[in-house]
Amino acid sequence: MAGIYLHIPFCVRKCAYCDFVSFAEGSVPESYVEALLTELELVARGGEYPAAFDTVFFGGGTPSLLSGGQMRRILETLFSRFSIRDSAEISMECNPGTVTPEKLAAYRAAGINRLSIGLQSTHDVLLKEIGRIHNFAQFLETLSNARAAGFDNINIDLMHGLPNQTLEQYLSSLETVCDLDVQHISAYSLILEEHTPLFLRVENGGVLLPDEDLVADMQDAGIDFLEQRGYHRYEISNFAQDGFECRHNLNYWNNGEYLGFGIAAHAAVRQKRWTRFANVDSLDEYYRLLARGKRPLAETIRLTPRDEMFECVMLGLRLVRGVDRARFFARFQLDIAEAYPLAMEKLRKRDWVIETADAIALNRKGLDLQNEALGFFM
Ligand code: SF4
Repeated sequence: MAGIYLHIPFCVRKCAYCDFVSFAEGSVPESYVEALLTELELVARGGEYPAAFDTVFFGGGTPSLLSGGQMRRILETLFSRFSIRDSAEISMECNPGTVTPEKLAAYRAAGINRLSIGLQSTHDVLLKEIGRIHNFAQFLETLSNARAAGFDNINIDLMHGLPNQTLEQYLSSLETVCDLDVQHISAYSLILEEHTPLFLRVENGGVLLPDEDLVADMQDAGIDFLEQRGYHRYEISNFAQDGFECRHNLNYWNNGEYLGFGIAAHAAVRQKRWTRFANVDSLDEYYRLLARGKRPLAETIRLTPRDEMFECVMLGLRLVRGVDRARFFARFQLDIAEAYPLAMEKLRKRDWVIETADAIALNRKGLDLQNEALGFFM
């Protein structure tokens, strides 16, 4: 399995909690699309990447600020320079309030076959509080237009732990989205990032976030609710109807190879050693390096086998099914339990681990306390 990620770092305006690399713009500048095409060409010519790709993902920012024509040009270049399998999952993130029926039809015609819609909450008062540009009615319109354009593999992002959010509000958002019968739901907890406007408002006492216990109750009740409604939890925050897990993200969690394009994008490929690349996160620098015919890299890290093994565990234990023992053995010639005897002992003592002949996985308690559990492997 291998994937390709493309970063589109523009949003109509910044949400109050956002610390992603994105800039307030009403559309994607042509200069960025040109730079992205140049980067695709440069990497394609370099040749050190997997022979074929199973997934493509446009993330952001707000990729749905791309016009239909811009999306078509990017995908045409991608398809002509890289071997993308016919069965590939080709996803894009899409924000309500940024798409028309025509644009959605153009994305579908260009090859996008999975949409991830950033709803976050069905309650307008909460959407306003966190600075989203849309309301619930606009989301419903976007979903209906997406279905009319032929999208039948749709994810909805929802958040809990929002300012003044109640457990009832969160569960009613989940219920509404389940009633809409989408294929996949990502249910994240708000992370209060320093230096964001929301962080400053919380610091100044201008807004109140639910306390830790209430957030944990939301998480717990949300998992139970989604499972009752036929969405199985396959990763800490991700739930899918059968057969609709996000293949692109599964490839990350299985520590597979991927390329990344655009500012601040990351890549991981096997060269002589497992190697990670990170692109620059400044637009000026990105344009400047590409104009000089150089890859816009900020960092290249070649991992030791021990570091590679640790990454495999860190990522794999996010999955409910855990780390596949046979795959781990094929990669490192060691069983995971033999590679980390002390960590495994601690997990067993706390009763946080499920060990079978096929996999090592965290149980629900272990997943809830994942940071602590992963600390044992350091
Ligand atoms: S839409 Fe997403 S990337 Fe853009 S500002 Fe909001 S949270 Fe950040």
